[in-house]
Amino acid sequence: QERMKGFGKDSEFRAKRVHVIGAGVMGGDIAAWCALRGLTVTLQDQTLERIAPALKRAQTLFEKRLREPLKVRAAFDRLIPDPQGDGVAHADVVIEAIFENVEAKHALFRSLEPRLKQGAVVATNTSSLRLEDLRTVLANPGRLVGIHFFNPVAMMPLVEVVEAEGADPAAAQAACAFVKQIDKLPLPVKSAPGFLVNAVLAPYMLAAMRAVDDGVAPETVDEAMLAFGMPMGPIELVDTVGLDIAMAAGKQLAGGADAPRCLIACVEKNQLGKKSGQGFYDWS
Ligand code: NAD
Repeated sequence: QERMKGFGKDSEFRAKRVHVIGAGVMGGDIAAWCALRGLTVTLQDQTLERIAPALKRAQTLFEKRLREPLKVRAAFDRLIPDPQGDGVAHADVVIEAIFENVEAKHALFRSLEPRLKQGAVVATNTSSLRLEDLRTVLANPGRLVGIHFFNPVAMMPLVEVVEAEGADPAAAQAACAFVKQIDKLPLPVKSAPGFLVNAVLAPYMLAAMRAVDDGVAPETVDEAMLAFGMPMGPIELVDTVGLDIAMAAGKQLAGGADAPRCLIACVEKNQLGKKSGQGFYDWS
């Protein structure tokens, strides 16, 4: 981690206010993390009801990390539900974390851009969409940058900062500075399928599932990789990521190869991993 602290060019950029759009798995936890780290955060989703679960998770995170009730209270006060998106106009960093859908993201960016503060960082948390496709609706396309957090946000130090072809280098530099400001490790990457981490991880997870297709027990695959020194076995990792997400990512990153049979079988039974209580393993 020491070595990685050097990643990302230095920039004077410092954020005070962050606006996160999409209060789902990622957006909700990104907003909570930023509030934990002292920033004022507005969190937007379609309704207050959709923001509520994220606030509940944030409360748990604050209590665990801050302990003192006054500090917990202060962090909670910094996290402001904002269904109308009023926070956009004041934000130094705007992070989009809505559904993984180009049209939805286009519609959002169109309405967002005229309301942005000058010099604000505009970021997407997309895992799989090309920034070059997302930015086409922007009058100033060079300012869109990827700030790609990993799940679970509070546990994962690495954040990929994605610079698309021909983008303004100042945008990625400011994004790196922001990532450092919230005590994460920025990894500057080019805009390519899977960026860096998922491009490396996907073949590893697919090979593990192919071993299961060939008759090796999931436990055996995981025990082997744990004994090899990995912190979590690859099959448990698939259960953690979600089998539907792994299937989609596999389609994109496996170069057209068929999905492993064991993965298809689970997804067809709606066994999606930890989130559904059953995947390769029983989590209920
Ligand atoms: P999610 O489905 O949990 O949450 C998406 C949220 O966006 C929902 O609450 C939805 O109501 C809201 N939303 C949709 N359209 C909206 C709009 N126009 N305005 C406001 N809110 C809107 O999704 P997620 O898993 O958090 O993924 C969000 C983004 O993060 C995606 O781009 C995904 O690729 C990326 N990502 C996901 C993971 C992961 O492990 N889930 C990891 C890294 C990146």
